[in-house]
Amino acid sequence: MGIYDELGVATLINACGTVTRLSGGMMAPEVTAAMREASEASVDMVALQAAACRVIRTATGAQAGIVTSGASAAVLLGAAACIAGLDPVRMNALPEVQDGRRDFIVVRSQRNMYDRALLVAGGRIVEVGIPDRVSGPGVRDAAAWEIAAAITKNTAGIYYLAEPRSKPSLRAVAEIAREHSLPVLVDAAGQLPPSCNLRRFLDDGADLVCFSGGKAIGGPQSSGILAGRSDLVASALLQMLDLDVFDSFFAPPDEFAVLRQMRGLPHHGIGRSCKVGKEEIAGLCVALTRFAAADPVARRAAWQNRLQLIATASGRSDMEITSGPIPILSLNAGSPEAAEALARQLLAGSPAIACGLGRLDDGLVTFNPVAMTDAQAEAAGARLRRD
Ligand SMILES: *Cc1c(COP(=O)(O)O)cnc(C)c1O
Repeated sequence: MGIYDELGVATLINACGTVTRLSGGMMAPEVTAAMREASEASVDMVALQAAACRVIRTATGAQAGIVTSGASAAVLLGAAACIAGLDPVRMNALPEVQDGRRDFIVVRSQRNMYDRALLVAGGRIVEVGIPDRVSGPGVRDAAAWEIAAAITKNTAGIYYLAEPRSKPSLRAVAEIAREHSLPVLVDAAGQLPPSCNLRRFLDDGADLVCFSGGKAIGGPQSSGILAGRSDLVASALLQMLDLDVFDSFFAPPDEFAVLRQMRGLPHHGIGRSCKVGKEEIAGLCVALTRFAAADPVARRAAWQNRLQLIATASGRSDMEITSGPIPILSLNAGSPEAAEALARQLLAGSPAIACGLGRLDDGLVTFNPVAMTDAQAEAAGARLRRD
């Protein structure tokens, strides 16, 4: 009997992608094995994060990196690093900031439900720009000079949501930031694949970049990556670690050597509630290395093939595979009402099939291949068959 039977929880066919609500995707046996092995011994967590730093450096080209408990935690820790730097007084004070230097400039069209992680760390959001191209009446969005104009002595950093349509370009934003010696914190949680994006945002000038470990990387669902400038990454790490230790017993490894400059150790930091386990760190390291090494063409072909299995098994002609970093199968139900009814019907069956609901208004039900097996794809297709 499997654990889900034992717990009395029904498993489902996840055609929604690696969404957190549906527990993400499935891990490769190599990743699971790493997590199990990691669970069978104790290690020093700083040494383990230093090892992860080496793996992340290789995969991303960053100066440094740490494993976090998700991309949202990476944003929180990155914000804390931007606000506190390597000052233990500021670290101890967060989320309070005595001198007010805690503002993050955010382009209004990039506001999203994950940016509150900035606030949790003690930051404040300062919105700029008028998103005419998003709201409809025009073609323009925020310009880089508007970001520059919003910078004050209270600015701690610039937050940037990496999306294919994000404006202004990250390069332009990074240039402004560099002129003002401010860090750019990039949320790129869902921007993999393509795997070249592991390096791209850093190449474009990001000081810190956040990735989700539980999405396409195929790592543990509660894992993420914060990568970038070594002083900021080390600050983030320190604010997440268990620091119930005498200063004289804390010896930072070479990967986080910048911490040796600090005048003292802070207490448990603002990131203590973002604790990441050794199992997640080990699993993420293996998953990241596998993801970076995999052939992008073969990965895409396998996903494409899985969607084709659904289409073929369904025998329907109202389906279409659209391209993008992750190919998506859309079923045209004819109307929003018909699409919603079909989605409900799939969810009510056994096993439940959870498909994408983002295009219901267009009458489309969508299928994402990342969190399914080929066998599940065939089963889903069979359920879609209209005899
Ligand atoms: C998925 C996502 C997150 C959250 O990632 P977790 O790893 O689940 O914490 C944050 N930001 C964006 C843009 C995302 O797409």
